[in-house]
Amino acid sequence: MAEARTLDALVVGAGFAGLYMLIKLREDGFSAQGVEAGSGVGGTWFWNRYPGARCDIPSLEYSYSFDPELEQEWDWTERYAAQGEILSYIEHVAAKYDLKRSIDFETRVTSAVWNEETGRWLVETDRGKAFDVQFLILATGALSEPKLPDLPNLDAFKGPVLFTAKWDDSVDLKGKNICHFGTGSSGIQAVAAMSDYASHLTVFQRTPSYAVPANNRPLEAGEQEAAKAHYQEMRKVARHSPLGFASPPRPGKAKEFAPKDREQRLEEAWNAGTTGLLNAFEDLLFDAESNEQAAVFARRKIAETVDDPEMVRKLTPVYPLGSRRLCSEIGFYEALNKPNVELVDVREEKVVEITANEVVTDQDRYPADAITIATGFDACTGAIKAIELVGRDGQRIAEEWADGPRAYLGLAISGFPNLFAITGPGSPSVLSNVIISIEQHVEWVARCLTDMRESGDTVIEADAQAEQDWMHHVDEVAHMTLFPAADSWYMGKTRDGKQVFMPYVGGVGAYREKCDQVREAGYEGFVLSHAPVGAEELTPHT
Ligand code: FAD
Ligand code: NAP
Repeated sequence: MAEARTLDALVVGAGFAGLYMLIKLREDGFSAQGVEAGSGVGGTWFWNRYPGARCDIPSLEYSYSFDPELEQEWDWTERYAAQGEILSYIEHVAAKYDLKRSIDFETRVTSAVWNEETGRWLVETDRGKAFDVQFLILATGALSEPKLPDLPNLDAFKGPVLFTAKWDDSVDLKGKNICHFGTGSSGIQAVAAMSDYASHLTVFQRTPSYAVPANNRPLEAGEQEAAKAHYQEMRKVARHSPLGFASPPRPGKAKEFAPKDREQRLEEAWNAGTTGLLNAFEDLLFDAESNEQAAVFARRKIAETVDDPEMVRKLTPVYPLGSRRLCSEIGFYEALNKPNVELVDVREEKVVEITANEVVTDQDRYPADAITIATGFDACTGAIKAIELVGRDGQRIAEEWADGPRAYLGLAISGFPNLFAITGPGSPSVLSNVIISIEQHVEWVARCLTDMRESGDTVIEADAQAEQDWMHHVDEVAHMTLFPAADSWYMGKTRDGKQVFMPYVGGVGAYREKCDQVREAGYEGFVLSHAPVGAEELTPHT
């Protein structure tokens, strides 16, 4: 191993989170370096180049808010930006702040070990580079570690196998016979796009999604200018809203509306784009009866769009609307009406084998020139657990989180001092406009580091009891909603198969207030110390 480079902070990941963290650390005068497994910046938007990929939050909101000049100089072309445009935006930010010189690309952090003696992390990479840092900041993404499907004998397939989460856009799929797996947000977008040019497309679905038309369109003349004129007010509303959007849920409980009025409001919300539907009434994620009324509406939309009743049956979800991620679609249901597209429900028709050129089920054989896979991510914890992370007393993160993740405020982990997880489990992260949540975490961490520099504290660690209380709160709040009613990637699993809800559903605004209060109370629930000493000598700041 090469000699370790000594720095104040190492930032792992160069997506939206890592880049902003680097900007803040530089601004605040810390020595910092970024490390990124990919060959460029962008994170999600660097890797997910599959056809049809785009955001489902309006572009004017799915963007950084920390730099008013950046807000004014960047122009979005569509209501919901496509992957390429978001990547160009991130590239623009990296260039504006001259960030690439501080990032090691094509370099993966493989291990990080806490040194009790020095109060620092020794970090190693797959390139033989090492870093000796006071602070380790994991901006590794909640949706960055792909989950591979359990397809028997996939290695036998002779054609290209493409994963949406690591898409290789040099492979031409035009005119090909494609077998596609997975119909979550990514799969739905990819299927719609590929149906335009595949000679045949067989879609293998396990759990159907609710998908709402994006109603994407070019931004109209004057629309962007109007938003730019009061951008900061818009951002302020988003920062204090439940989900990080500028338009919060409409007041009123669905079940208390007269059927005609409820229908009208749902119709308006349906036409407003993806984020609109769950905002149609204030109680859709809390009240089973109200939710079912909206779900019946969404199921009827599927039946009205898809021609074949047997397909409609397979495509119709039975779980509460929004308890799994609501998807955004542009032509997905229409794609299933095309003569070159068929749908296989793998719960009814089991995939038994992949051969050199087919997918074989217990009922049929499906020829394939290419296989495309959108089976999701090891969400919220996967990228962190993939690092050999060793904290105090040899504690290993994979073992510590085997019964579900624990992190105080979703930010810091007891036993792993001077480590911060941006949008970690236990924070609003994936249940919000993620950029709003990223900015809040980055600004909190940067403030914490400058506060420590001023106070002379050198080590900060989450108190175990505060962490336990927080995770209990995360669980309690989740169970006040309908989220746990579905089996989704929001849930982690314990060793004995129990489910643990990972993101914080208490709301972006309430969460921000809590983090601010913690800081104002002298980092309540954290343990701070002035010297690199053992845990037993530290004084809790409670
Ligand atoms: P990421 O963008 O995931 O970046 C993390 C980076 O860390 C990656 O580049 C990865 O290579 C790197 N990394 C991980 N581990 C290591 C390691 N050990 N060593 C070195 N590098 C490492 N959110 C929304 O709010 N709205 C949307 O519309 C939306 N659309 C999405 C569409 C897709 C296809 C996906 C997958 C996610 C979407 N999300 C959306 C969530 C999205 O992930 C976040 O909005 C945001 O981009 C996350 O940024 P990040 O920097 O936290 O993480
Ligand atoms: P996902 O939502 O987890 O969807 C994966 C799908 O694949 C699930 O329906 C899963 O079913 C299915 N699956 C798993 N194994 C399978 C198999 N062997 N055969 C057939 N199907 C199988 O993953 P994703 O679509 O990549 O989306 C992840 C998240 O990224 C989203 O929820 C969203 O937060 C974000 N995203 C957003 C957008 C956007 O529009 N802005 C686009 C893409 C992604 P089970 O649930 O039964 O396992």
